Amino acid sequence: MNMSQKQDTDTLHPDTLAVRAAVARSQYGENSEALYLTSGYVQPSAEAAARRFNGDEEGFTYGRYGNPTVASFEQRLAAMEGSEAAISTSSGMAAILMMCLALLKSGDHIVCSQSMFGSTIKLIGTDLARFGVESTFVAQTDLAAWKAALRGNTRLLFAETPTNPLTEVCDIAALAEMAHQAGALLAVDNCFATPVLQRPMALGADIVMHSGTKYLDGQGRVMAGALCASRELVNEKFMPVLKTGGMTLAPFNAWVVLKGLETLDIRMRAQAERALGLARWLEAHPDVQRVFYPGLASHPQHQLAMAQQSGIGGAVLSFEVRATSPEQARARAFHVLDAMQMISLSTNLGDTKTLAAHPASTSHGRLTEAQRQSAGIGQGLIRVAVGLEHLDDIQNDLSRGLSSLDTLK
Ligand SMILES: *Cc1c(COP(=O)(O)O)cnc(C)c1O
Repeated sequence: MNMSQKQDTDTLHPDTLAVRAAVARSQYGENSEALYLTSGYVQPSAEAAARRFNGDEEGFTYGRYGNPTVASFEQRLAAMEGSEAAISTSSGMAAILMMCLALLKSGDHIVCSQSMFGSTIKLIGTDLARFGVESTFVAQTDLAAWKAALRGNTRLLFAETPTNPLTEVCDIAALAEMAHQAGALLAVDNCFATPVLQRPMALGADIVMHSGTKYLDGQGRVMAGALCASRELVNEKFMPVLKTGGMTLAPFNAWVVLKGLETLDIRMRAQAERALGLARWLEAHPDVQRVFYPGLASHPQHQLAMAQQSGIGGAVLSFEVRATSPEQARARAFHVLDAMQMISLSTNLGDTKTLAAHPASTSHGRLTEAQRQSAGIGQGLIRVAVGLEHLDDIQNDLSRGLSSLDTLK
């Protein structure tokens, strides 16, 4: 830590650690953390090099294994999540790949929610299946279904909460207990809530996975990923996969995300405040059928979400445009999206700019209509990842289409 020489970091608050946790300053005394662009490191002596390569001494040896800027990002994120350690990767998906390669082998079994991020479902259900890893996908909010899916060879439970785009919330503490009773680990994808709203380690999770691409950077600039876990898991399970797999986070991207963490708390709170305002406005709108947002009392897991997420619903919501048929719903949703003049039509999320998208034809476009129905992704559904613009401007931009639906056939 940057200040570890002077102060015991255990007593510091997460907001402080978000700004201060980092590797020690260089001899130049820079106040903002340095960006170290180097692929290799000069060793102080042949003996030291031998010790470092053998893992007997701390010290950087090669860029694929580690970098001071990358280490600062890892220390800061671990401090914010309340984990012993963290290891970063080139993207969120690379973090999931690292986790699976490190913890699973042919014949092992993993249980996941069926509402997880689309690429996660494909990686685990299709790509890892080719290597003999078995998987079961269950209903996100149905604890009995998670339990029924457990087998003797289950090694990992992997949950994401809230989910995209319907913001379904699952009970992290209950899943952690269930995993541990079964001799398995619980990993939580904490992309949507971030450590500002939700700290899964404190609820019993063993691993917290992040896409740094989303709120951690928060300004839509770089790709990054990370796993937070015990020092033992990081050093003995994940680090060896990083060394051979090479899914290393680039120092520049690490530096961007490191600086993003400094404003994560205020960004998340401000964006979530706007999201709650937008959700309430949409819920009262005559042309909106339904709003999905954990901060609304109408959300099926509202109580659980409020208890688990520090009383904050997050910055992503979805809503269904009122319609009488799937065809009309799709036409109406497209009309609302095409009428926007400010909000970005984009499937990304976690940006200061508000983004909106039509899940049924994009992120969930490859599903059959039956699969989409069972996933609850209707043709009238629009997802909004709320940014930092003034709430009035966000509402006005969605109003353009919503108030002119009558002009459609
Ligand atoms: C984006 C995302 C990922 C994947 O992260 P990348 O950085 O795009 O690889 C995983 N989980 C969730 C919930 C995401 O939103």
